[in-house]
Amino acid sequence: MDGDDENIPQKKAFLRKTFQPIKKRIEDSDFEEKEEEDEKEEKEEDLEDEFEDEKMEKTQKLEEVISDLSFDDIPIEATMHSEPPDMMVIPLQAAVHREPGRKPEPSSLPMQAMIHREPEKIVDENDQSSRINDICAGMATQKEVEMQMDEKFKRINLDLIKKVVNVIGNAKSILIFSGAGISAPSVKFPKIEPLNNNVKKAIRNRDYYEILKTEDGKLFRDSYLFGSILPILESTPNKGHFAMRDLQKLLEMINAKVTIITQNLDNLHDLADPESNIIHIHGTLKEGICSKCRKKYDYLSMLKKFKKKPNKFEIFKCDCSGVITPNMIEYGESVREYDTCESKARSSDVMLVLGTSLRVTPASELVDIVEKQGGKVILFTRSDTPKDALASLHIRGDLSDILSTIPKELKIYLQKQEIIPKSIRKKIKKYKI
Ligand SMILES: [Zn+2]
Repeated sequence: MDGDDENIPQKKAFLRKTFQPIKKRIEDSDFEEKEEEDEKEEKEEDLEDEFEDEKMEKTQKLEEVISDLSFDDIPIEATMHSEPPDMMVIPLQAAVHREPGRKPEPSSLPMQAMIHREPEKIVDENDQSSRINDICAGMATQKEVEMQMDEKFKRINLDLIKKVVNVIGNAKSILIFSGAGISAPSVKFPKIEPLNNNVKKAIRNRDYYEILKTEDGKLFRDSYLFGSILPILESTPNKGHFAMRDLQKLLEMINAKVTIITQNLDNLHDLADPESNIIHIHGTLKEGICSKCRKKYDYLSMLKKFKKKPNKFEIFKCDCSGVITPNMIEYGESVREYDTCESKARSSDVMLVLGTSLRVTPASELVDIVEKQGGKVILFTRSDTPKDALASLHIRGDLSDILSTIPKELKIYLQKQEIIPKSIRKKIKKYKI
């Protein structure tokens, strides 16, 4: 803790430097008032105003309660509810990178999600292919997860959300880092036969074509391709993904930069906002890639074709005779675009960590980078993480419910900032959430 104390003056200096007021940023930009358009819009807005004003009044009291909080005073916060089992972890971010020779920590194994199903088979720390289990496990259904959730745990602490909004509304560069927790409500996995070692090995070695011709081919096809990859590819974004899209749009209106980095193999952030440039550090299942010529394919279409003709293994062969597999990393391989991620972290003054236990490196090291330079880290994870001590805020609870409150509160917050030019505030007000 002594080390932290020493850093406080530097941190404050940094914050003064980086958290420049909204006004300054807006002045730097070349926003123009479009008077004529404004007049036309004025009338219809008056009607909306009444509704919005009423809404604002309702939140006024709460705003006053937290208005005394200075930015530096925001405490490390945790809910008082008891810690639930680590059940949010679902294998959507399965392709995790681990340092060679380093034993994975038990809690990093998404198999723990199956807490009430054959627990003796769940955690096998010596199983180097546990990542494959990660994708293929029968895993807890959303219903099971919900059943285990304490009612109190579902309740959203609006005070904390206001603090979050206060932080991000004044940041100039925000890094959003997401993991399996954000996608969990979107994917419905069917029950499957567990994979055997032959299949796991084939997946690890990317022998997607050869394994199909063996007696384990059916297991590979039904449990892995159709039972695990296909449900992920056919899933749709949930309100958590849409909330992050809205957050990005609103912040960009005040010239803040937002970067989304995901560990997830799905494409749900991209689907929620096709305009956004998402960094997939573990790759994506959406894309197939040839092992030889690196030609790219639409993997979902391939799987659909294969489902219609399950004996046509040639679907997975490229014209060049290479084998087409999902474009994702396997164990021991480096994460994608890490240099870009690092540089984004270096230039971020706020990092939001969504639904990841932060137990895999090097991705979790981004938290250290942001914190070391005086940035704020806000955790939205149900369980404890190794980075809890570095966080300014820790919000626990139902992730998609919590996230969906943030853009709404941010919209209200930004509209109240008189320092923001009226034309921008109008734009913010018009943004439909
Ligand atoms: Zn090829």
